[in-house]
Order: sequence, then structure tokens, then C-alpha cells
Amino acid sequence: MIIAANLKTNFTRKETKQYIQELESYVTNNAITQEVLVFPAMSSLDENNTSIIVGAQNAYPTQEGAFTGEIGETHLNEFAIKTILIGHSERRHILGETQESIVAKFNYYKKLGFKIVYCIGEPLPKREAGEQEMMEYISAQYEGIDTEYENLIIAYEPVWAIGTGLTPTLEDIASIHKKLKKKSKAPLLYGGSVKVTNAKEVLNVLNVDGILVGSAALYVEHFCTMISYAEELSQ
Ligand code: PEP
Repeated sequence: MIIAANLKTNFTRKETKQYIQELESYVTNNAITQEVLVFPAMSSLDENNTSIIVGAQNAYPTQEGAFTGEIGETHLNEFAIKTILIGHSERRHILGETQESIVAKFNYYKKLGFKIVYCIGEPLPKREAGEQEMMEYISAQYEGIDTEYENLIIAYEPVWAIGTGLTPTLEDIASIHKKLKKKSKAPLLYGGSVKVTNAKEVLNVLNVDGILVGSAALYVEHFCTMISYAEELSQ
């Protein structure tokens, strides 16, 4: 399974280093065989000599250049980063990324062979509008995306569940993951208010290949517990 932590705009470089070291100790001491990914804040990217896969939360589709406030391929290469999160709802809805700009980013980092965790998910009004409208909305987020890309991981994250403590029912997750698996065979993660208290049951849902965790992953011991659930379920 794939267990990923999105640290968002939290932790300094020093704190992130400590976090990754604690995670690495846990993974090594417990002979964890799951794939563990961590997405630190941009300024906390650093050398990484652990088995934890460190990815970028964002980067501009460029090697370098005049793109104030952004980082590019060169900055990721400095730390041998080969994994990137693309299409997260906070970037779509707070930072105004369009499907067009997301596709440009996807294609750029795909060409470089990056592991791409591509996020999709519907806001509450779309869910409330019913199944058909919700699926149309989600389908539009697949437009321009190579769903057969070998290093693709998809994360289904309902926008209304992110950071809110709300989650779809397990039946809802099963139902939508079943539909999404028809669109792409890539590993499919669930994300949105996954916590120690619900991680095991979410991981146990059919067609859930892992989880993407935000707030709850800030507690390293909680994140380690979720990793242990995945390990247990994979036996
Ligand atoms: C996320 O930001 O990807 C996320 C899933 O956040 P949270 O776990 O806090 O809902």
C-alpha cells in the first residue's frame, strides 16, 4: 500500500528533518514494506538519505527562469526529488490552478519520469447535485491526463472532506473508487480527514490502495500507526 503525508505549510526544515528521521526509524525497526511518501513544505526540501520517498507539493513546469515564487526542476534535482503532488484541491481552489495549468505541469514532470500523485475530488455542491453531476465534475479532472502513465498514483480527495473532519461513508468510498478504477488502473489513494481512528477501515475498503493524509500526519506517531495498519492489512 501507499501511505502518504502532505505536510502542507507546516514544519521548518529542521522539524521536517526530525520528522523524516523518526519515520525512517519506525519503518526500519518494524520492517515496514509499504511505500511511505512525505511531501514537505517547499523550503523544507533537503538531502534525504532515508527509505522514505520525499516529494514536492508543487513545482512550476520549468527548469528555471522568471517565475517569481515558484521552484523548478533544477531545485528538485538539487535534492534528487523525483516525486510530485499535482492537482491538490488547495492549489486548484485557493491558488486558482486551472485544469490547463495542471495538465502542463503533469506533462512536464511526466516527461522527466517523476512519480506523480495526481489529486482529484469534488466540492460539496457537486456532491449534493447528485451522482451524475459529481462524476462529470471528477471526469473533467482527468482531461488531458495520461491515465496510463506508469508512475502515476491517483488520490481521490473530496474537497469537503479535506481538513474538515468529515468523510464519506465507507460505502461511498467503495462506490466511487470502483468507478475511478475504470478510468485508470493506477494505484488509487483516498484522502480527506483520514485519522488514526478511521484509517484502518478506510484502508480496508475495496479498491483503496493507500491513503493521503494531511492534518493527522503532522503527529508522527499517528502517521506511524496508520503505516502499521497498512502493513497489517497487507499481510
Ligand atoms: C490533504 O490535504 O491532502 C488532506 C487529505 O488533508 P486532511 O487529511 O487534513 O483532510
